[in-house]
Amino acid sequence: MSEASRLFKQVIKDGRKSLLETEAKTICMEYGISVTKFKLAKNERETLKAAASIGYPIVLKIVSPDIIHKSDVGGVLINIKNAQETRNGYRKIMDNVMKHNPKARIVGMLVQEMAPAGTEVIVGSIKDPQFGPALMFGLGGVFVEVLKDVAFRIAPVNENEAAEMISEVKAYPLLKGYRNTPPADIEAIIKILVNTSKLVMDNPEIKELDFNPVIVYEKGAKTVDARIILE
Ligand code: ADP
Ligand code: MG
Repeated sequence: MSEASRLFKQVIKDGRKSLLETEAKTICMEYGISVTKFKLAKNERETLKAAASIGYPIVLKIVSPDIIHKSDVGGVLINIKNAQETRNGYRKIMDNVMKHNPKARIVGMLVQEMAPAGTEVIVGSIKDPQFGPALMFGLGGVFVEVLKDVAFRIAPVNENEAAEMISEVKAYPLLKGYRNTPPADIEAIIKILVNTSKLVMDNPEIKELDFNPVIVYEKGAKTVDARIILE
């Protein structure tokens, strides 16, 4: 049995519908979708240890089955530069979460490498009741959220179709580079779309997923947040 189906079984057995970010990223890794280096810490001491081993700057995020949108509850702190900031950040996040959602079950603190700035894109999948899983692509921020500038394809999606999806969004010229921004690695995005297609085709228990954002560079791309929801 694949790591993914074993994990899905466990999540269902736990009575959960959504995977923790750590679980979703473990599945990404199995499917060749590159993610930021991460470690799950159970307390402040382990958080400091994990931060030192990953190397600063780091990002801290709350891990809880009851919190889907982490920044909404003050559960994400980025660009933490040293042990003192890690300690303060740990306490700040725990405090924020307690205030917003005192009943949330806390699994721990996710420590991850801070991905450098780049072009933020979104890769997602939803299930069409008639045609099954479909893939979604768009650029991060206002492009998807305000302008609904997205491309859809019914899975499976091959490399040519993935390339088409990318080039048909209105924001596509931004990926080709402008002013001081270098061109983004389109091949890396194609690979993520094709691998995400494999992931949803292999695992029909996936209801929807989103990788938001995926940060794209001149060379390569990294998923910094991953959500997978089961049927
Ligand atoms: P949410 O559950 O609120 O969507 P995210 O994990 O997406 O939480 O984090 C919120 C934002 O913080 C992201 O949209 C991204 O801009 C930034 N971010 C998160 N993780 C990283 C990281 N490892 N490196 C750089 N930026 C990050
Ligand atoms: Mg996110």
